[in-house]
Amino acid sequence: MSPADARPVNAFTVDVEDYFHVAALSSVITRDSWAAREYRVEANTERLLALLAGHRVHGTFFVLGWVAERSPALVRRIAQAGHEIACHGFSHQLVYRQSPEEFRAETTRAKGYLEDLLGQAVLGYRAASFSVTRASLWALDVLIDLGFSYDSSIFPIRHDRYGLPGATPEPNRLSAPSGRTLVEFPMSAASFLGVQVPVSGGGYFRILPYWLTLAGLKQIERSGRPFTFYLHPWEVDPGQPRIRVGAFSRFRHYTNLERCESRLRRVLGDFPFTSMREALRLRGLLTARAPRPYRALHLPPV
Ligand SMILES: [Zn+2]
Repeated sequence: MSPADARPVNAFTVDVEDYFHVAALSSVITRDSWAAREYRVEANTERLLALLAGHRVHGTFFVLGWVAERSPALVRRIAQAGHEIACHGFSHQLVYRQSPEEFRAETTRAKGYLEDLLGQAVLGYRAASFSVTRASLWALDVLIDLGFSYDSSIFPIRHDRYGLPGATPEPNRLSAPSGRTLVEFPMSAASFLGVQVPVSGGGYFRILPYWLTLAGLKQIERSGRPFTFYLHPWEVDPGQPRIRVGAFSRFRHYTNLERCESRLRRVLGDFPFTSMREALRLRGLLTARAPRPYRALHLPPV
């Protein structure tokens, strides 16, 4: 095998939600206002689909249940373009702010809706704002109960809203509190001067200069492990409505929106990508055959 062949294949992921779902803006946008807001996620997801098609990359789209129920045709379009559909929960609430019962109910609804829509099993889950932390590890058992094959919600860093410092940085089989296991593809970080910096997507990808992102991703690649790239459709939308919010949240949400798409083209040219499911299969952590849908069919019989 040549050194080029030995490059790890990374997971390209999109969290399909709109700008008004974001935790950084949740202090000023209430959930009951969502339905009345300008809805931009469909057009922005189409832009990402066109970009990925141009680079012949298939990724994984973690779709928020709230968006899926409003835009079933969009979900079908993503799947028909050859991408993996996975679950981003239903209401974008932080897992550690929910009770296990609330989490189970809304995750069942989101997964069930996607499986009914597509007629196939949904294997992967990602929590809103990576909110599987030490306080919400119980969620891993709920995900196992609901038939998920993998989770991608753990960020092995320190952060004000999320993070599980010291967690395994590479894809692995993780023990849930019950002792059962679930495959985890953690979010990725590079180490600069001893500080873990999450270079592989989202606000960090927009805010840090591309050369620093590139250096961080190359560092992860040299270690032989694949990274998870992640982005939201609203991050390629400089024309989105500007929400009045505090300076720090404004910085996180709005910096370099206009530069994101050209950076995305660069990263797609610089690294090999596939869906998360395929990246895990290449690591020997998932089998090729998909399980049956959790409850073959969730919809009432006709
Ligand atoms: Zn999200």
